[in-house]
Amino acid sequence: MINRRDWLKLAGASSLAAVAPRGTFAAMRDATPHSASVHCELKRLMLRHTWTTVMSSSTYRDTVHVQYQRDGATGYGEGAPIVRYKEYPEQAKKAIDAISDRIAERDPWSYVKTLAAIRHGLGDHERAAMAAVDIALFDWLGKKMDMPLYRFFGLDPADAPVTDFSIGIDTPEITREKTREAKDFPILKVKVGLKTDEATIEAVRSVTKKPIRVDANEGWTDKEEAIRKINWLEKQGIVLVEQPMPAHMIEETKYVRSKVHLPIIADEACTQASMIPKLTEAYDGVNVKLDKAGGILEGHRWIEIARACNLKVMIGCMVSSSCSITAAAHLAPLVDFIDLDGDLLISNDPYIGVKVDHGKLILPTGPGLGLTLRQGASV
Ligand code: MG
Repeated sequence: MINRRDWLKLAGASSLAAVAPRGTFAAMRDATPHSASVHCELKRLMLRHTWTTVMSSSTYRDTVHVQYQRDGATGYGEGAPIVRYKEYPEQAKKAIDAISDRIAERDPWSYVKTLAAIRHGLGDHERAAMAAVDIALFDWLGKKMDMPLYRFFGLDPADAPVTDFSIGIDTPEITREKTREAKDFPILKVKVGLKTDEATIEAVRSVTKKPIRVDANEGWTDKEEAIRKINWLEKQGIVLVEQPMPAHMIEETKYVRSKVHLPIIADEACTQASMIPKLTEAYDGVNVKLDKAGGILEGHRWIEIARACNLKVMIGCMVSSSCSITAAAHLAPLVDFIDLDGDLLISNDPYIGVKVDHGKLILPTGPGLGLTLRQGASV
């Protein structure tokens, strides 16, 4: 009979052993080499308000959903490909479909090795597709071990800071309406980066005095303009600025940072784990998103690398359903700032997962992601 040490070796799961409760190894022993099935489809998520940033304006988003079935359990995953990173929903689905048989044959318990092989098979540029598969696999692992993912990673949900609520670019009138709708959130994140920035902030400020984060989405291309705007924003009670200038303008951003007091967070500038140390020159922190990193395992690694570089960490998201948002929320106890509201921006979420009460995340306690299907929803 195979012993515990051999199983750990087979599963490549030495870190798992540290958090594995009773029953875990029985679950692993059950992992006979049965084949899994991998199903992938696109879902159209309808936005409550037209969502406008410097990059685009849309009334819906298509995200890619994966179901990983094996040994009587189903793991759910989601990824949101966006055009900024040259990723497209149809292309992401195609990439997953092309290797679904190979994913199914792999040992899920050797998840480090298996996920590395899947990343290689999808191609390193298909990060949202990778995130969908990675999340589905972790949901399945959590279900088989009968533990929520935050516990798998050794985290306490009570350590998570509050999340903000995002307000896209709009007319002053609609901005005021959106600000009123967000009354239960203690922090707002307002999209800026256009000529209308002052009018947008004044509209929000006419409704509330609460702290505001801003995200320029690379919208300011002149460093003096960026300095002027950030210094004006500081007087309006803004607490941090995300991606003020285009990602490639590291030197300019470094100069801007030397002339302002507000913390500067990298989002579009942070797309590779290897970039994170370099970002310390121009930024105070990084926005980690599972869709950029390619899932939970790599997102966790980005957070660890950023911490090692003394950077602040935000965990963010794309417009997504509760599937992807809940996956990110399981890592939220590790970060300084949470921006996980993508599911709150849509009107047809197929899942019920993490909930928010006055900005505080309430993680489901069920195994894996802890999702339940919304009544009437098809997944
Ligand atoms: Mg951003």
